[in-house]
Amino acid sequence: VDHELDYPKSPAEMDWSFYYPKYFSNPDQQVEPLEGQNVKKVEWADVGCGFGGLLMALAPMFPDTLMLGMEIRMSVTKYVTDRIAATRQHQSLLPSESTERVKGQYENVSVIRANAMKHIANFFEKGQLSKIFFLFPDPHFKNRKQKARIITPGLLAEYAYVLQPGGILYTVTDVKDLHEWMALHLNNHPLFIPIPNSELENDPILEAARTSTEEGQKVERNKGDKWVACFRRAPNPED
Ligand code: SAM
Repeated sequence: VDHELDYPKSPAEMDWSFYYPKYFSNPDQQVEPLEGQNVKKVEWADVGCGFGGLLMALAPMFPDTLMLGMEIRMSVTKYVTDRIAATRQHQSLLPSESTERVKGQYENVSVIRANAMKHIANFFEKGQLSKIFFLFPDPHFKNRKQKARIITPGLLAEYAYVLQPGGILYTVTDVKDLHEWMALHLNNHPLFIPIPNSELENDPILEAARTSTEEGQKVERNKGDKWVACFRRAPNPED
């Protein structure tokens, strides 16, 4: 329930230093930020990240991009938090001959407990994100009332708001009805332009989105089908 969830009143009030200590200085400590701090913003969001498989795959592939998992379940969020902390620590203990590039890995990835359906615009300002992922969401979507679904016409306006023009929204699911539902509403939305699957055939990010999450791997073990639909955020009408 909501009152247990922490979220900033606005993105400007968000203290990211807890999540990415290498990239943000703590505003409560009266110290000068280090060089390179407070420069970057979170750019990629994995909505309903589950156990974090996508982010752990992408973080070392894109070490200069800050990426965040948003997960509503407390225990799952804690699991991912611990997973990232352990991986960072392991990396920092690598022998000194390891390159800086290797040693600094996983500082660009974090997870936050949040209800992305309600609060995504509290965390990100307009156009802040360049990628947003919905991977194997809503397994029981058919039994849910429309307004409880993670992709609805109303929520697409929120996702379009935080996504920058040219940014990409990825959906992958093993539930065919859900795929059709998501694609229908995204296709109908004026701010989302469908990307032909052929255009992303060799996209390593889509490959990771299809195969590196825990749910995606389960579907693979069971030899299930996966449906992919990706959309590019259209330019703002006023531009
Ligand atoms: N994306 C992951 C994967 O592919 O392995 C997890 C898929 S799991 C079926 C869906 C996840 O979305 C669950 O972990 C659930 O707790 C989370 N979730 C559902 N509604 C959410 C919301 N409103 N905000 C954030 N996370 C949510």
